[in-house]
Amino acid sequence: MAAPSAPASTVPTPFAATSFAAARSRAHGPTAALWHAVEVHRPAGEVDGACELTLCGTLARVSVDEPWPTEARDVCVPCVVLSRPSAR
Ligand SMILES: [Zn+2]
Repeated sequence: MAAPSAPASTVPTPFAATSFAAARSRAHGPTAALWHAVEVHRPAGEVDGACELTLCGTLARVSVDEPWPTEARDVCVPCVVLSRPSAR
């Protein structure tokens, strides 16, 4: 019997899923500090506290203590949309 065939052609990379971390930007002029999403390709311990480029293109400090998606209200809307699997 043949093994069940997996739809491998739909996944071009060896990564099955992308994980995100929450990152806190600093207040900058009229822009308030917000929670952003950062795509994480390294162990959480390596990115904790690091300044990373967020999905919306700003720099924010990663906080692995904060889950993503976060339940905080001051969250970056573009990052929420971009981190949804259906947005890709
Ligand atoms: Zn953002």
